[in-house]
Amino acid sequence: MEKAKRTEIKELGEFGLIDRLTSDIKTQHKSTVKGVGDDAAVLDFGENYLLISTDMLIENIHFDLSYAPLAHLGYKAISSNVSDIAAMNGIPKQVVVSIGLSNRFSVEAAEKLYEGIKFACQDFKLDLIGGDTTSSPSGLVISVSITGEVEHKKLALRKGAKEKDIVCVTGDLGGAFIGLEVLSREKQVFISNPDMQPELDKYNYIVQRQLKPVARMDIIYELRDLGLVPTSMIDISDGLASELHHLSKNSGVGFRVYEDKIPLDKQTYDTSVEFNIDPITSAMNGGEDYELLFTIDHKDFEKIEKHPDIHFIGYATKMEEGLVLETKNGNEVKIQAQGFQHFN
Ligand code: ADP
Ligand code: MG
Repeated sequence: MEKAKRTEIKELGEFGLIDRLTSDIKTQHKSTVKGVGDDAAVLDFGENYLLISTDMLIENIHFDLSYAPLAHLGYKAISSNVSDIAAMNGIPKQVVVSIGLSNRFSVEAAEKLYEGIKFACQDFKLDLIGGDTTSSPSGLVISVSITGEVEHKKLALRKGAKEKDIVCVTGDLGGAFIGLEVLSREKQVFISNPDMQPELDKYNYIVQRQLKPVARMDIIYELRDLGLVPTSMIDISDGLASELHHLSKNSGVGFRVYEDKIPLDKQTYDTSVEFNIDPITSAMNGGEDYELLFTIDHKDFEKIEKHPDIHFIGYATKMEEGLVLETKNGNEVKIQAQGFQHFN
């Protein structure tokens, strides 16, 4: 008898696995405009598109309760879903929240989680319309699904960037990643000596970036007021490098970005140096910033030229030119999805 083939999931990675499981899926309904492959699915039920997205958070994979307060975690679970609707240039409307709880959790603990969930629903004007509650063999699982709406003409996909479009990034990058480094270091210190109190004051901004990220709906509303529709868009959940690859692959363009244009907060910069990490690596490869990466046509540049929180980091090129980072001293570095390697 022949032995069944066994492939380890780590050989494919997350994106490889999704591709393997979904590449042969064909949609059957005319209303399914976009299925697998973007930040949210796009469904056509008339005047506007309905957007749907879902995300699951699992204890000790996505969060560590020894430093993430439950209320913050609830907020983050909602905010990260809102970010996927923002990435489609949509307005979030409803959420469905499912939780699995082990007997380690009390009613009061569940209430704390919901404090954060409800606070985020207020913040982003969302109706919480249902969910599911179950026990879990160990630890906490949170799954959130979200709906949103966007007018047909305002939809922004990962596809759509064209050569010469300007690449824009909101806020600053790398903070959530380096904030997590600080939190894990302080946890180790605490485990080896429980009398040591963590010193987090000087890391306040980056720790907040990790624990309570705020989806950039403010930017989506502003773009609407300015009458600007990005030619392509994605939210930055896995690091700038990975998101540039998604836009590139879906749009069929390359990108040239400039190291000195990539927005870094001073605390992110200083703490990266403290951890012997190149600050630009924190921005390129660190995840969970939940900022927006988008491209615009040149004709729209003057509408946001002076915006204090939108940064112009480069432009789209021909696909053959690939993804290139031009460093401060003029070297060209090829942008890899994970980490990046020098040409020379
Ligand atoms: P994001 O980081 O924006 O949440 P993901 O990387 O999780 O996006 O997912 C990429 C795409 O693959 C999305 O369109 C998502 O709906 C789809 N996807 C992810 N996991 C599955 C799955 N198990 N089955 C079907 N589609 C999936
Ligand atoms: Mg996304």
